[in-house]
Amino acid sequence: MEDASKIADRKDRLIERELVPRGVTDKAVLDAIRKVPREEFISPELRPKAYANVPLEIPSGQTISQPLIVGLMSQLAQVNPGDRVLEVGTGSGYQTAILVELGAEVYSIERIEGLGQSAKKSLSRLGYNQVHLKIGDGYLGWPEAAPFSAIVVTAAPPIVPEALRVQLKEGGRLVIPVGEAGHQVLEVHRRVGGEFIREHHGNVSFVPMKTGILNL
Ligand code: SAH
Repeated sequence: MEDASKIADRKDRLIERELVPRGVTDKAVLDAIRKVPREEFISPELRPKAYANVPLEIPSGQTISQPLIVGLMSQLAQVNPGDRVLEVGTGSGYQTAILVELGAEVYSIERIEGLGQSAKKSLSRLGYNQVHLKIGDGYLGWPEAAPFSAIVVTAAPPIVPEALRVQLKEGGRLVIPVGEAGHQVLEVHRRVGGEFIREHHGNVSFVPMKTGILNL
């Protein structure tokens, strides 16, 4: 087990050298990144890389995004305490925990059963018991729990799913990587009046968003 002060130093270095200079400056987001132990969401042999600014492999061929991207997406989601937030692509549960630390009431959907189950274990071991998790197809969103103040999608569909946009509250933000591998753009769709305003936030690289449920 690594020394807590060494881990704290690594987190500070990650934040000061990689996140703040690239635009992640929201204090609540940086505090959440300081608080959530990323090493608890990855396999033991990857732990030395927990606070490097790199994506890491999780089971079933999926990845946990690099901390910079988690920070940017969390910041773009503009979460206020008490907000209801939907996450599509629970994966390891790391981003889920960040959203909980931002004070959100989190609903998170994962399509691969084994990943959803292990995320549930990691989250409850760390005391994040208040999260609503389900195995399902994120293309459908979570209509029973809608509307959401923010929706954060951590896998890339070829085009923005309309079912997700309509589950936004007035003023709500959908933060989503869109496009085919190699050509993905991070987009924010904001619901304003009866319309959606789209912003572009640079190129990103995510695993593809797929349809249906997998019993792996
Ligand atoms: N937020 C995660 C990132 C995991 S990678 C983390 O912090 O670890 C993206 C995840 O999206 C994968 O686990 C993948 O299985 C899941 N996914 C892909 N398409 C999906 C869909 N239609 N519905 C729900 N989850 C989906």
